[in-house]
Amino acid sequence: MHYFHLFGPVHSRRLGCSLGVDLVPFKPCSYDCIYCECGHTISEVTERCEFFPTRDVLEELSDYLSSSPPLDFITFSGSGEPTLSSAIGKVIHFIKYTFPTYRIAVLTNGSLLWRPDVRKDLLLADIVLPTLSSVFDSTFRKIHRPAPGISIGKIVAGLELFRKEYSGEIWLEIFIIPGINTDIRELEGLREAIERIGPDRVQLNTLDRPGSEDWVIPADSGELERIRSLLGLTGIEAVEPVQYKLSAGSTMTEDWRAAITAVRELLMRRPCTLEDLSSSTGISRREILKILREIQVTTPVEEKREERGIFYFCPG
Ligand code: SF4
Repeated sequence: MHYFHLFGPVHSRRLGCSLGVDLVPFKPCSYDCIYCECGHTISEVTERCEFFPTRDVLEELSDYLSSSPPLDFITFSGSGEPTLSSAIGKVIHFIKYTFPTYRIAVLTNGSLLWRPDVRKDLLLADIVLPTLSSVFDSTFRKIHRPAPGISIGKIVAGLELFRKEYSGEIWLEIFIIPGINTDIRELEGLREAIERIGPDRVQLNTLDRPGSEDWVIPADSGELERIRSLLGLTGIEAVEPVQYKLSAGSTMTEDWRAAITAVRELLMRRPCTLEDLSSSTGISRREILKILREIQVTTPVEEKREERGIFYFCPG
């Protein structure tokens, strides 16, 4: 079966071996973040809709999960903000009741959690990972360039309400951009908000792949440590750089077409190095290079050199 809504499994820095579920096409989002690894938002929206027939997503999940693949998480993420999909509640419910051994994570920008229907849709997830990068409106707008009608006050209030209603874990991501949300005023504002929201974990994240804007730079480990100690709260951790587990050979190359599709699906969603692709698919780097050449016959593959190596991606 060709999977259109599933991708990976990828080796996620925060979630381990994670099967991605993408309910949103490329790329409506409620934000247009300066660090977005998927590129610029094409349409900024806050209205929810069923972008694809839910039945198709459930069929793909049934097919993929029927062989009980080992996964740490099934993760809702991908090309845009997953809670913009009005199908997300139904799909989470389906997984929980049909394949109850799998744990579900939702990567969300948190911008719609003020809506009761969005909070209700996420109640069965095991972990929700929302983002909060500043409590000041001007900084929030500079980083996330939100759709009209979204304000940081509404988002923090939504996170507080969600904490009261939801019994799963909340891992709050603070995306650190040196020079933008790293001064004392910013960090004190964030500390107060974290205390009010009460997440189970706070994860300091920073740029790991090329973002939308070339001038955005990552924080180094010393900067992340400085921020962690200035925030001065327990349960704050820096997201570790990706760890590679390269495999010598491949099982997927036995099905060459499936391997090509898997790599192309990853590159359509985020820029990846050879190591990222090898680690996610289990295919050796040498074979990944062959696959890239094959993909280039039909699909443009762009390259960008960054500190972590050459990133490949298929522009949307
Ligand atoms: S980083 Fe997430 S929230 Fe921001 S624009 Fe990209 S998909 Fe949207």
